[in-house]
Amino acid sequence: PTFDSMGIREDLLRGIYAYGFEKPSAIQQRAIKQIIKGRDVIAQAQSGTGKTATFSISTLQVLDTSVRETQALILCPTRELAQQVQKVILALGDYMNVQAHVCIGGTNVGEDIRKLDFGQHVVVGTPGRTFDMIRRRNLRTRNIKLLILDEADEMLNRGFKEQIYDVYRYLPPATQVVLVSATLPHEILEMTHKFMSDPIRILV
Ligand code: AMP
Repeated sequence: PTFDSMGIREDLLRGIYAYGFEKPSAIQQRAIKQIIKGRDVIAQAQSGTGKTATFSISTLQVLDTSVRETQALILCPTRELAQQVQKVILALGDYMNVQAHVCIGGTNVGEDIRKLDFGQHVVVGTPGRTFDMIRRRNLRTRNIKLLILDEADEMLNRGFKEQIYDVYRYLPPATQVVLVSATLPHEILEMTHKFMSDPIRILV
C-alpha cells in the first residue's frame, strides 16, 4: 500500500512526501479512503498511530482552495494539540495554498476576527473559543462540509460536551463527521448517534 494508490491529489501527495512520510500507517490505509468517499468515520485510535495525518490528509483532499471559505472544522481538547494539528495541516498542505487558523483561548480575539475575515479554509480550535467565534458570526459555518472531533474522549473529560453540541448545531445538516477517540464510552456513542449517519467504525 502506498499513498500514490489512494487517489490523493498531486499537490497534496507532494506535501506528504516532502514531510517525510513514505508509506501510510494502518489507520491511514483504512480511514483516508472512507473519509475521502464522504463516509462518517469513528476511528478508535490512540496518538502514535498516525491519526493526526489521517484526518489532516483527508481534510486537505476534500478542500476547494479556490473558495476562501471555511470548509473544515477540527475540534481538539487542548490549545497545544490544536496548534500541532494546524502545523501538520500547513506542512502537508505546503503546495496547496491552504489557509488554516487556530481558534484557542488565551489569544487575542481581534486577531482571530482579522484572520477569519480574511478567509480560512480550515479552522482548528478548542470548543470554547471556536463556539465563541461562531456565535459572533466571525466564523461562518455555511460552507463547512467536514467536522473532525479529535480526541473526543479527552474533550468530554475536559468538560467540552455542551460546547461541542453548541458548535454542531450551527453546522449545515449534511456535514460529514469524523470522530477520533482512544476510548468509546457511553457519552461518545451518544454523540455518534446524534451527529453521524451510518458511520464506519475503524479500530487500530
Ligand atoms: P499521531 O498518531 O498523530 O500522534 O502521530 C504519531 C507520529 O507518527 C507523528 O510524529 C507523525 O508525524 C508520525 N506519522 C504519522 N503518519 C506517518 C507515516 N505515514 N509515516 C511516518 N510517520 C508518520
